[in-house]
Amino acid sequence: MTTERVPDPWQDYRKRRRWARLAFLLVPCALSAGTLWSTTVTALLVVISGAACISAVRFVESWQCPRCGRAFFRRGRTHNSFAKRCMHCALPKWTHPDSMPNAADAPLPNRASWV
Ligand SMILES: [Zn+2]
Repeated sequence: MTTERVPDPWQDYRKRRRWARLAFLLVPCALSAGTLWSTTVTALLVVISGAACISAVRFVESWQCPRCGRAFFRRGRTHNSFAKRCMHCALPKWTHPDSMPNAADAPLPNRASWV
């Protein structure tokens, strides 16, 4: 009997989310640096940490749904980092794609169900 591990389709999302949390932790660190260094250095650190946060959010939102392969948290110009369902195929967050019906059979979510 072999115990074959099924790959977790959400592993990459967890990794991206961890990076985003780390980026958000940089902001208070940069702000507290103002007590140690000059205003110019502090402003530079705040700008860098802000850019890191924006990049981290974009990194998380560009994560692709394990079922439909499109951006889970983005649909056209609309994006929601806290969406509980894929904004394309309505796959619930943290659900294995094989446990739900085919993406073509699933109803498209309305805007209220994305949150
Ligand atoms: Zn999807």
